[in-house]
Amino acid sequence: MKPLVLIVEDEPPLIEVLRYNLQSAGFDTLTTADGEEALLLVEEENPDLVILDWMLPGMSGIEVCRSLRERRKTRGLPIIMLTARGEEGDRIRGLDAGADDYVTKPFSPNELIARARAVIRRTRPALTEEILNYAGVEMDLAAHKVRRDGRSIHLGPTEYRLLRVLLERPTRVFSREQLLDAVWGRDVYVEERTVDVHIRRLRKALNAENDQDLIRTVRGGGYAIDSRESDEVA
Ligand code: CA
Repeated sequence: MKPLVLIVEDEPPLIEVLRYNLQSAGFDTLTTADGEEALLLVEEENPDLVILDWMLPGMSGIEVCRSLRERRKTRGLPIIMLTARGEEGDRIRGLDAGADDYVTKPFSPNELIARARAVIRRTRPALTEEILNYAGVEMDLAAHKVRRDGRSIHLGPTEYRLLRVLLERPTRVFSREQLLDAVWGRDVYVEERTVDVHIRRLRKALNAENDQDLIRTVRGGGYAIDSRESDEVA
């Protein structure tokens, strides 16, 4: 799965430059010239990064940035502000509004790509990795293959996505609701019990007879992939 970048920019030639360079660098892109629409797209498409022009017709980039930071769900969403202004005061205002980084036009596409990668690596490290690894479980994202201690593990598509979410943040406990959002998407109505069913299948596929069960069930909390013995977890 490629990282998805939302480009919010109103100058068509610049949109083309951004789109071309980001796609060549392995990102998927979405574009809009409108701040209000940008907020909707973030809600619907769940991008991994927003490249946000400061000067937009209508709602400004700064307002979009603030608004994303005020919402619980998008508080941590990486944002790179783009602007023709290069003054120190503007830079500070942009960072104050909650941008993670700031690029002044004209910029070199390579520099922007490098910044985009750096910001994503900081916030979602697993997105830039090709192979996720934890406690002998190895998930090759490019080849779509899973192994445990060298043994091939065959997973259905839902179990694969579940394991991926867990492996992106080992030991972190995900609630059923968080897993539903991450695996099935926010727009699909699925009962929380369904998560339990797929976790059960994942466990079964992952654990050979004498293997330690790596999927930890937290009563009232959710699930994690965690190799620590339960008395160490406290
Ligand atoms: Ca503009």
